[in-house]
Order: sequence, then C-alpha cells, then structure tokens
Amino acid sequence: MQPRRVVFEDPSLPHQIVLTMHQGSHRIMVTCNCMRIAGKGKGSGCRAATYEPIEVRVRWEAAEALAVWRAHLEGAGADAA
Ligand SMILES: [Zn+2]
Repeated sequence: MQPRRVVFEDPSLPHQIVLTMHQGSHRIMVTCNCMRIAGKGKGSGCRAATYEPIEVRVRWEAAEALAVWRAHLEGAGADAA
C-alpha cells in the first residue's frame, strides 16, 4: 500500500490540510501537518510521512474535507491558517 500525499497550499504551515489516498483500500484520509507522526516507518525506505487521521472516508466532497479540517483547527485552538 503506497500512500499518495496531496498537499494544498503551503506545506510549511504548522496547520495545513493533508489528504492521503490509500490505493489499496480506496479510502481517503483527511489530516493535518500537525498530526504527522515522526519516525514512523523508519527503515522501510519507501514510506512517505505518516499521519494520524482526523477522519477517513471512501468519498469526500472538497467542502466536507475542508470543514472537517477546520473543525480540527478549532479543536486544536489554533489561530493559524
Ligand atoms: Zn493541525
């Protein structure tokens, strides 16, 4: 299973929406830059960064994905983005 990562806007922001598609399961994970798990997958050599999911669905409307991510921002008490 090779995650494909799609980053919108500026990946250097502390809170930035990240959508990861798992080709094996056809599920799309909505997550955030701040949910990145450091060090996981180390040594495998072929893994991109790993993230804790905010929510995983088979199908997302773009507006829904943004709404879920914005809810995460409010939950995190962030005033970034
Ligand atoms: Zn975040």
